[in-house]
Amino acid sequence: MPDLFVDGGWTSGSGGSAQVVNPFDASVVRSVDQASAADVDRAVAAARRAFDDTAGPWRTTEAPERGALLRRIAGLLVRDKEEIAHTETLDTGKTLPESRIDVDDVTAVFRFYADLADKDAGRLVETGIPAVVSRVVHEPVGVCALVTPWNYPLLQLSWKVAPALAAGNTMVIKPSEVTPLTSIHLVKLCEEAGVPAGVVNIVLGDGPTVGAPLTGHPDVDMVSFTGGLATGRAIIRASAETIKRTAVELGGKNPNIVFADTDFELAVDYAMLAVFLHSGQVCSAGARLIVEDSLHDDLVAEVARRAGRIRLGNGLEEGVEVGPLVSEAHRAKIEGFVGAAREEGATVVCGGARPDDPALAKGFFYLPTVITDVTRDMRVIREETFGPILTVERFSTEEQAIELGNDTEYGLAGAVFTRDMGRAHRVASALRHGTVWINDYHPYVPGAEWGGMKRSGNGRELGHAGLHEYQEAKHVWHNTAPAPQGWFKG
Ligand code: NAD
Repeated sequence: MPDLFVDGGWTSGSGGSAQVVNPFDASVVRSVDQASAADVDRAVAAARRAFDDTAGPWRTTEAPERGALLRRIAGLLVRDKEEIAHTETLDTGKTLPESRIDVDDVTAVFRFYADLADKDAGRLVETGIPAVVSRVVHEPVGVCALVTPWNYPLLQLSWKVAPALAAGNTMVIKPSEVTPLTSIHLVKLCEEAGVPAGVVNIVLGDGPTVGAPLTGHPDVDMVSFTGGLATGRAIIRASAETIKRTAVELGGKNPNIVFADTDFELAVDYAMLAVFLHSGQVCSAGARLIVEDSLHDDLVAEVARRAGRIRLGNGLEEGVEVGPLVSEAHRAKIEGFVGAAREEGATVVCGGARPDDPALAKGFFYLPTVITDVTRDMRVIREETFGPILTVERFSTEEQAIELGNDTEYGLAGAVFTRDMGRAHRVASALRHGTVWINDYHPYVPGAEWGGMKRSGNGRELGHAGLHEYQEAKHVWHNTAPAPQGWFKG
């Protein structure tokens, strides 16, 4: 079966094919069809027609019906959970339990926007003029280009597709060329649930060949992008020509601040969960551990000891705790960061190499790594590493902790661990990051907004704001008792 979906039909496209690789052993999972710029044009044209047709099937579909369709998609996700989770693990290398959690989260996102579809339609504005009815209505933006990364392929896509559909938009999806498989599956479920032709389209391929023509397309009204900073910049630049709306969700360099009054076991456990989950390939990974002086040495020693015992392996195997990195190229980047840290004088306390287990030799594995004796100017402190690298910095006052936590061009997420709740909330409010966890790391809920400050992005996903991204606010003023104004005397 062909892999591109355009105007309600599956097609092979004209960009040839590419292999999807299993990062555990570099084997080929399968070949997928690739789009060309001409296929992008066809997909955008289909989405344009489906949107512009004023008697069209989707924009004018009543909101409760749109919600019902999202609920049907959620039901199909439940039905296909095991198959999707298995595919996500083959594609990304993450463990099967993580992939299952992803599918549950995706289902929850569809349910959340199913419920919101008919409950956030607008409001009446009391003007104080009795004869006037003033309404602010929410309308869809139009044709949306949805471009996603490889670390949470289906999850990141659901944060876009569900609100975009709930709001009545049409869309062209472009998943990461590294991990397209579950995105294709989701589009199949949209088709099965009864999404009308042209409303959801998917094109596959890399950034230059497919992403750039899609996001720069004059007939696209909005780009929602999740990925790296450099790509985000390119997308915003390209959007200037047609004044497209852009929502970009970019990287992070996230501080995990631990005060010495924190329970030791809690501090160790969360320091590891924050950064080593999914091999650190998480935009909100707590890659910078910022520790109060008196706790520093003990915490580093214990985290390093346990990091050395993390069970690496095939994500499909029970008991495996962490899978490989997503690709050979990505591992080379991680090796570059550790090499630079060594050259700049940092101490690699553990890891800092590929594992020597022959069973892992074919995969893109890298050992969980802890680095100390870092300074703020080092590459490993300033840039997003997006891998299993934990750097440790120290502080002696609350002010220093806050300053260190904010000393990054990014502003995506961070955490503070302490028993002092006054301090916890002071630090939380001082941190310039879009999400702050207190005595926790990683959880999120569909009802709460997610997004970055500073160079972590300009949009918000999830929550009510995640729906508003895909809506235009229109003011309708109705004068129910019009009379000539006589402004011009004639
Ligand atoms: P990336 O920027 O390399 O690629 C992301 C997507 O953009 C891919 O689909 C790619 O093909 C496409 N693309 C590449 N060049 C393009 C271009 N010129 N025009 C249009 N599209 C183009 O990012 P990645 O390596 O896939 O993902 C990792 C990044 O994503 C990290 O920085 C991570 O922090 C970030 N991320 C952020 C969030 C968040 O919520 N803020 C969530 C997940 C990942």
